[in-house]
Amino acid sequence: MQDIINNLPKLAKDKHNENKKFFAKLKNKPPKDLDYTMQELHEEEFKRTDCLECANCCKTTGPLFTDKDVDRIAKHFRMKTQQFINQYLRVDEENDYVLQSLPCTFLGADNYCSIYEVRPKACREFPHTDRKKFQQISNLTLKNVAICPAAFNIVEAMKKRIK
Ligand code: SF4
Ligand code: SF4
Repeated sequence: MQDIINNLPKLAKDKHNENKKFFAKLKNKPPKDLDYTMQELHEEEFKRTDCLECANCCKTTGPLFTDKDVDRIAKHFRMKTQQFINQYLRVDEENDYVLQSLPCTFLGADNYCSIYEVRPKACREFPHTDRKKFQQISNLTLKNVAICPAAFNIVEAMKKRIK
């Protein structure tokens, strides 16, 4: 898995123009059954890809924390919200709460998330490949294929499936 992760930025760069064209076309004329197709491709891919062998998203990007996430996770640690923010978070250029440091401080050496049950919504949803109206997040997906091997494979499968 580590070799795949190491090669991913280059592979994604090589595919960038092709992917950009594909998503532009998809946005223009999304197939009627796109939600269904994405669900299927997502499930097929995650039968093969084990996130516990990867954790590259937790190591390299980290999530945005919504106010609800912050409250829920602070409560989990029995901390005051502000105390949790001071200890773990910072505000980024877009005014969102993000982690102070990467890899994520809640990631264990075994790649398990120590706050799995209460993890941020963005972590639960990453890489967003099973979301509805997938064509609407093409810019985000163009970035995610360089981070997430599963997202890379799903986009490759999409290009074969959707002509
Ligand atoms: S979601 Fe993607 S990047 Fe994150 S652990 Fe799973 S395969 Fe790796
Ligand atoms: S909170 Fe958990 S799932 Fe989210 S980035 Fe950290 S370790 Fe990964």
